[in-house]
Amino acid sequence: MDCLFCKIAAHSIPSAILYEDDQVCAFKDIDPQAPTHFLVVPKAHIQSVDEITSQNSGVIAHIYEVIAMLCKEQGLTGGYRVVTNCGADGGQTVGHLHFHVLGGRSLAWPPG
Ligand code: 5GP
Ligand code: ZN
Repeated sequence: MDCLFCKIAAHSIPSAILYEDDQVCAFKDIDPQAPTHFLVVPKAHIQSVDEITSQNSGVIAHIYEVIAMLCKEQGLTGGYRVVTNCGADGGQTVGHLHFHVLGGRSLAWPPG
């Protein structure tokens, strides 16, 4: 499949991988928007939040376990933000479900 994050998860495109297991892969964002900015993706291709169903949603809970573990490992004691953009209005540019994790500075709210 011609999908950037499937290729990163399969190691066919290099990236700075922080963690992986049989279900998920976490890697640094190539264009970081905060001192810490990494992405967590399911290894199985899911297009977006819109494609989450009772058949594939188990991995979502696991993704949040991995996020909590990595944020502790990265020392983000001041807090952090988890963001998932969905579709054109949500600002999604890569069509493989991913969770941005941003931390290391104070983040504005609400987003633009
Ligand atoms: P979206 O805009 O879909 O929410 O987020 C896509 C994210 O993927 C962006 O933050 C962008 O910087 C990141 N990204 C795009 N291409 C690559 C790449 O080749 N490698 C890595 N590590 N991140 C990428
Ligand atoms: Zn994919």
